[in-house]
Amino acid sequence: LTQLFRPLDMLGMVYRTIRQGLIDMAEMFRLIDTDVEVADKPGAPALVVRRPSLTFDNVVFGYDPDRTILHGLSFEVPAGSRVAIVGPSGAGKSTIGRLLFRFYDPLSGRILIDGQDIATVTQASLRAAIGIVPQDSVLFNDTIGYNIAYGREGATPDDVAAAARGAAIGDFIARLPQGLNTEVGERGLKLSGGEKQRVAIARTLVKNPPILLFDEATSALDTRTEQDILGTLRDVATNRTTLSIAHRLSTIADSDTILVIDQGRLAEQGSHADLLRRAGLYAEMWARQAAESEELGEAAE
Ligand code: ATP
Repeated sequence: LTQLFRPLDMLGMVYRTIRQGLIDMAEMFRLIDTDVEVADKPGAPALVVRRPSLTFDNVVFGYDPDRTILHGLSFEVPAGSRVAIVGPSGAGKSTIGRLLFRFYDPLSGRILIDGQDIATVTQASLRAAIGIVPQDSVLFNDTIGYNIAYGREGATPDDVAAAARGAAIGDFIARLPQGLNTEVGERGLKLSGGEKQRVAIARTLVKNPPILLFDEATSALDTRTEQDILGTLRDVATNRTTLSIAHRLSTIADSDTILVIDQGRLAEQGSHADLLRRAGLYAEMWARQAAESEELGEAAE
């Protein structure tokens, strides 16, 4: 009998997930494949963010009890700063993002936002405080306006228009005969990768979160479009705290601080210049990526 109810449970879960405005996370974390593992503590208060600092305090975590992925990770992201997380494949970068969103709880240690342990506040308030900008965005088969307004319940047409301008897609939309009412997706207007991403950025701007999490997992953008988008993201990041999970170092070289994660440990941290001088793992990754982009005929930065 339980077999019979499983699909219904799944539907309920998918529905609740969408209601909570988590669609961007579903893209990033393949939430549908993940059991929801954590629950709010009874009577948990809402997270109150005045100065959006992030702290990982000696965080130990593994998906399976017999395999530790993060081995007592500690770092600080001061309010208003731009911090990037880099490191070899499998180092635990995306895991850090998932823990910040509290898809899982650490086995030990704490994660704090503005001094509050995220395990003690409501998940709704936690997730309202963080906006994700995935580079590979999925849009609904609906209007551009709907896709942007989705960022926050109760967003007004003025909010949507302002967000579209902030994401530098306002002029593009204004030139469409139906403007924000233009249908996009399979049966509507096909947007380019860069345009889709700008719609996703606008959606995040409507949400107006104090903390931004950028994930550049699978960027399919050409270099020119990517540079344009990066410029927009820098504007969007102003007055917010941002954490970028990066694979290509050229996109995060100007971060205030770069955290180099290796096998679930903080291996190095500092600015790009600091880390090059250190001639360690980061410098090695930088040299390798520069050589690869030269091979591809791109201008090495
Ligand atoms: P990449 O640069 O390749 O995306 P990453 O640094 O983001 O890697 P994570 O995705 O955080 O690495 O994964 C860290 C480790 O945790 C990897 O060994 C991975 O196999 C493991 N892992 C990731 N997700 C799960 C999961 N849902 N269940 C079990 N193990 C997982």
